[in-house]
Amino acid sequence: MTETAVTPKIELPPTLLAGGRANLIGLSRSELAEEIVKLGEKPFRARQLWQWLYVRGATSFDTMTDIAKPLRARLAERFAVARPAITRHQQSIDGTEKWLLRFTDGQEAECVFIPEEDRGTLCVSAQVGCTLSCTFCHTGTQRLVRNLEAGEIVGQILVARDALGEWATPEGNRRLTNIVMMGMGEPLFNYENVAQALKIVMDPEGIAVSRRKITLSTAGVAPRIRQCGAELRVMLAVSLHAVNDELRNRIVPLNRKYPLAELLAACREYPGLSNARRITFEYVMLKDVNDSPMDARALVKLIQGIPAKINLIPFNPWPGAPYECSSPEAIAAFAAVLMKAGYIAPVREPRGRDIMAACGQLKSASERERKSRRDAVAVA
Ligand code: SAH
Repeated sequence: MTETAVTPKIELPPTLLAGGRANLIGLSRSELAEEIVKLGEKPFRARQLWQWLYVRGATSFDTMTDIAKPLRARLAERFAVARPAITRHQQSIDGTEKWLLRFTDGQEAECVFIPEEDRGTLCVSAQVGCTLSCTFCHTGTQRLVRNLEAGEIVGQILVARDALGEWATPEGNRRLTNIVMMGMGEPLFNYENVAQALKIVMDPEGIAVSRRKITLSTAGVAPRIRQCGAELRVMLAVSLHAVNDELRNRIVPLNRKYPLAELLAACREYPGLSNARRITFEYVMLKDVNDSPMDARALVKLIQGIPAKINLIPFNPWPGAPYECSSPEAIAAFAAVLMKAGYIAPVREPRGRDIMAACGQLKSASERERKSRRDAVAVA
């Protein structure tokens, strides 16, 4: 692995910046147009600006050569084009890249780029920390939690595209082709900001990632699944992990609020499902907890009739975790039951293990390092 520590540049607030300037990143198209009209300009200027921001990836007004200089100066007085600061960049031996990003209030979140043969996926965070406390997930053990703003979510994609150097690259030649809301946090607990961010990312005149290439992963906030299906119609992934309420209540405590029957009803109603557009059920393989062939058979029954694929995720251990990963034999036997029932059930190969970029581990390494630094100072 290679690692670069990057000295953070000036820290810029998400929506309001030093000198009272507002960040344009994160505004919807209509909000941007409103701001432009407030300046006494014609609304088409907003469209020009939008293209600078999201087609060419402009980071300052100086480069916007088809906008008259006096207007550029007025824009720069009131607004900024701010990305989160990169505080750390790591690259795994398998090509996975991870960025630790710092927002204006000093909070941090990570995003991860996973290159594969036929695609490149950016795993994006929705919150700093997470309130869910799934017992197998390390993010749930972090103390601080806050929602990310729309601009901070879009900012993760901007930072990745800056780093990959693919602004103004035609869709067919891009490395970053897919987006998964599978980083830190529960996206459906931050629905408004996630929705606003994804609408910016999907806009055909901008970054233009189609909704078929965006997957939102949820632990099962059933009412919001309906809203997400109606408004965003992105692909849906559901972190199922258990096939009965008794076990799921324990390992995904959100199940106590939205039990399996309610969750699966919301999945069945998800719009636009077909064999070409399936729901992904994620299932973490926990040794002797949820990995028996009986569980696999119950899973088949539970999701019957839903166009689905099942991602089997080998449990990624972390220090002090109360679980072990299922044996390769148990995973293979589990997958065999699903495949026999006609489901695609790939076993997800953990990516970026050497840089702690795998599922449920985001930011845990840097948190731990900080804690040990604090402890060291306390001892001294
Ligand atoms: N809150 C959302 C998205 C974040 S987690 C959700 O729950 O879906 C992304 C995926 O990684 C989820 O399926 C989560 O259950 C899984 N995961 C978390 N910790 C893990 C671990 N230690 N090993 C394997 N998968 C894990």
